[in-house]
Amino acid sequence: MYKNWVSDEEAINCPLCQQKFSQLRRKHHCRQCGQVFCSKCCKVNVPLPQLGLENPERVCDGCLPVVELVTKSWSQQTSFQLESIQGLLELLHEPTGMRKVIQLGGLQTIISLARSNSVEVCKGSAEALHLLSMHEPLHMILMESGIVKALCGMLNSASEADEQLLSYLIGSLMIFAKAPQLQIRVVQDGALPPVLALCGMSVSEAIALIAVRTLNLLMENIGSHTALIESDRNALPRLLALTLSDDEQMQEVSLKTLARLSMGSDWHRHRIVQEDFSAGKCLMRSLQRQPKNMQVLCNAACLVANLATSEQDQSKTVRKGARKKDIFLTLAQTMVGGDVTSETHYFSGSLKLHFLIAPKASVVQHNAPLSHVVRGLANFSSFHQNVYRLEQHLSKVISVGLKSDNQSINQHSMRFILHVLHRSPQKAVSDLLGNGGDDFLLSISKTAGMVDAMQGNLKQYVKELCPPS
Ligand SMILES: [Zn+2]
Ligand SMILES: [Zn+2]
Repeated sequence: MYKNWVSDEEAINCPLCQQKFSQLRRKHHCRQCGQVFCSKCCKVNVPLPQLGLENPERVCDGCLPVVELVTKSWSQQTSFQLESIQGLLELLHEPTGMRKVIQLGGLQTIISLARSNSVEVCKGSAEALHLLSMHEPLHMILMESGIVKALCGMLNSASEADEQLLSYLIGSLMIFAKAPQLQIRVVQDGALPPVLALCGMSVSEAIALIAVRTLNLLMENIGSHTALIESDRNALPRLLALTLSDDEQMQEVSLKTLARLSMGSDWHRHRIVQEDFSAGKCLMRSLQRQPKNMQVLCNAACLVANLATSEQDQSKTVRKGARKKDIFLTLAQTMVGGDVTSETHYFSGSLKLHFLIAPKASVVQHNAPLSHVVRGLANFSSFHQNVYRLEQHLSKVISVGLKSDNQSINQHSMRFILHVLHRSPQKAVSDLLGNGGDDFLLSISKTAGMVDAMQGNLKQYVKELCPPS
């Protein structure tokens, strides 16, 4: 039962006061830690229900502060429970207190007090768990003790109005969600439903934002994507609704979460497109808002580019939104850029400017959104029915994308140009002759295997025309 039980024979000195044991200075075991002490250092008797000892037992002065609090937590009376959690909280703030609390069973006490009927006790427990979760070396111990289940249990029953309590709870979950090795476990322990609920509740913006950030972190693990979508049929509509928030940070994180979800299988992408149409084409509207925050556009463009890879959905995206302002055209529009002088076109204008005249350093940070935009154009145009709708943007892709020295932008631009060349050769040739023909040929020569493949095809073709005689 005792990990560190010390036998009478082994004990020479009292570990607390260091005095030697003798005929006069007798030896006493502490029932909590199992070590041997003198009578002065081990004099108080406390019942230890946590160890199955209902009658008062001798406890040493080292164990006493924590043990008394643990024992009090076993009471059904709220006042004792409150004393217990407040005392433990005080100890956690002391330099050596945290170690003692954990060694002497205080962690289990804090977790069991999370189930108390008293809101005040729960709040204390949530604060204590939050303090503990900020210490990374404790993460494994905390997970093994069921901290996530305790946090989720409190979240499930917490009132929307109790901001302090909610922020301790969701704040702790976010800390665990940040650790890649813990993400799966956090999901398994039931974090998705309460976190998702928090995203949709009428809680303060700050708390909803932490909830969405937590969700986004948990979705770093691709294995949890299906779990999120299936955990609640409102999961996707809720995330989509957040992309229309007035807060650009909220837009940024919700779009990023959706972009992550769109990386998996066609099934995931299909679910998102389906929901977006029934939820009122949120993606389209969020793109049309011309956000000032570059990351919002970057995430939206990434999401749309991912969605464009699935045949079923990309054709739907185009067909259903066939009127003037669909996602698709908005995406293309973003690349084309608007009136640079008009404030409403700030974003597209500045993007355009950055690409055309800005020094290289500032171009780099804007390469990401442009890369997604060109990737989206290339993905959409891989389906022939889209080429005719997109070819109007060809000259822009040639002048911005093809001339970019960013490899990803350059290659997606090439993909787009080749799709147009395939389906609409007249247009492609005339645009390329106008500007960028040399860049196009250079890109072909620089793309590994491209010239070889052309030569190989040509050889095959020529062989058929001119068989050896
Ligand atoms: Zn002593
Ligand atoms: Zn002890």
